[in-house]
Amino acid sequence: MGKPTGFLEFTRSENKHRSIDERIKDFNELYMSQNESVRKEQAARCMNCGVPFCQSAIELKGMVTGCPLHNLIPEWNDEIYQDNIAHALNRLRKTNPFPEFTGRVCPALCEKACINGIDGDPVCVHDNEKYIIESAFEQGLITPRIPVVRSNKRVAIIGAGPSGLALADALNQRGHSVCVFEREEDAGGLLMYGIPNMKLDKKIIKRRIKLMKKEGVQFHMNTNIGEDLSFEELKQNFDAIALCVGAKKPRSIVDFDKTIDGMEYAVDFLSEITKRLMIDLPLPDFSGKKIVIVGGGDTGNDCCATVVRLGCTDVVELEMLPEPPISRLENNPWPEWPKVKKTDYGQEEVHFVQEHDPRVYKTTIESIDVEEDVIKAVHTCQVNMTENGPQKIEGSEQILTCDLLLVAAGFVGVEDTIREETNLEMTRRNTFRTLPMKYRCADQIFAAGDARRGQSLVVWAIHEGLECAKEIDEFLMGYSNMD
Ligand SMILES: Cc1cc2nc3c(=O)[nH]c(=O)nc-3n(C[C@H](O)[C@H](O)[C@H](O)COP(=O)(O)OP(=O)(O)OC[C@H]3O[C@@H](n4cnc5c(N)ncnc54)[C@H](O)[C@@H]3O)c2cc1C
Ligand code: SF4
Repeated sequence: MGKPTGFLEFTRSENKHRSIDERIKDFNELYMSQNESVRKEQAARCMNCGVPFCQSAIELKGMVTGCPLHNLIPEWNDEIYQDNIAHALNRLRKTNPFPEFTGRVCPALCEKACINGIDGDPVCVHDNEKYIIESAFEQGLITPRIPVVRSNKRVAIIGAGPSGLALADALNQRGHSVCVFEREEDAGGLLMYGIPNMKLDKKIIKRRIKLMKKEGVQFHMNTNIGEDLSFEELKQNFDAIALCVGAKKPRSIVDFDKTIDGMEYAVDFLSEITKRLMIDLPLPDFSGKKIVIVGGGDTGNDCCATVVRLGCTDVVELEMLPEPPISRLENNPWPEWPKVKKTDYGQEEVHFVQEHDPRVYKTTIESIDVEEDVIKAVHTCQVNMTENGPQKIEGSEQILTCDLLLVAAGFVGVEDTIREETNLEMTRRNTFRTLPMKYRCADQIFAAGDARRGQSLVVWAIHEGLECAKEIDEFLMGYSNMD
């Protein structure tokens, strides 16, 4: 522990976001960094607990709390306090290949389990993680690690999202030859084409991919398995194949029809805006438009932030669940995942421009009005959530004028094309079925990330990639010394 009394002396100080007024004028990252002395104080708040729940990833009442990667948090907090970035990096890299991603987009499951959070504010673990990796890049501590010994085993990974990248990195470091096949122009999966620039600057992903290429990972971009290359060909040419294709099949809502002008799935919309930003294409102008977003989760929030930057000042975000409490209820004690209301950056921004919160709870869409294939309005109603699903509250109907309806209502598993191409057994959640508690589907086929566990988080995708790598290594070599 850096400073035994640190948690008594210093209060929590998170990295601030740029002011709303300033940041909604661009698509640059939100965060501002804090100087080294603040970071040291924040690291000094860590108590080096005998039982570090922050790195535990324990499941309580069906929800996980603590870091899924089991990051060695107290150890690197101590190294930050001692001014020893090289050692902090060494400990961080033992468990996390991509801290520059998690240090930006992870919802910090660790902090929810931090013991300081029992009766005060948790340690700023997430910001400390980003500080270590970014300081390491600045100080030239991150250089390509080219494996000295190569096996003669070949592994194909389909999908370059965080699970595929973690898997590729681990197996490449072990000495296997790794080829990543990705249908998009750039690697990163939803890191690149889902999460907006404001949370994760795309340069950060490209920096990592450049490094992985130097280390020997081969990327085959613009290669859609099932169209450009068959799954059968991969089976013939590789010793093992990992399906890291995500779970991007969107949940539909009533009357969804892609041909209707003004109706889009949220991820397609976010991805289109990111692609336009990357090649400097003109962006749509939403000033004066009325936008309805269905879904109050992370994707809905990212849509709020994006439409505000495109000039919109009239947003309604519909959420079917009731409004959560502001702080933990008695039946939701530490260290359980806190079921509390979270107001994210995009919702704050919409609140700022239209002077009220965009979220409307316990509400869903019943139908839409369309004239000449253009959306005009949505009909909503309130619902009560019951054991049998949402029940309409009679008399609660409303009509909202709408120029753009963005559907961020969640996902229902693996996309049809790759499911049909592989012809593998699926779970009830439409994810690839693997052997119990394993990553192997059949023969030399493995699956990891959202394609195995359903839509989740970047930190879980990385975890799955790393665990799957160990299993593939064992399959290829008959044993594995990857820990
Ligand atoms: C809008 C949005 C915001 C999010 N924000 C956050 C956040 O802030 N924090 C967080 O932790 N999580 C967030 N998530 C969730 C997180 O992004 C995912 O859980 C994570 O990216 C899953 O990683 P993955 O590698 O399993 O799949 P993906 O990231 O989905 O990657 C799958 C890859 O496979 C490729 N692919 C699919 N089929 C083929 C094929 N046939 N041939 C070749 N390539 C193929 C796809 O193009 C894609 O690149 C968000 C999700 C969305 C949708
Ligand atoms: S990866 Fe997420 S949960 Fe783990 S230490 Fe980093 S911020 Fe916390």
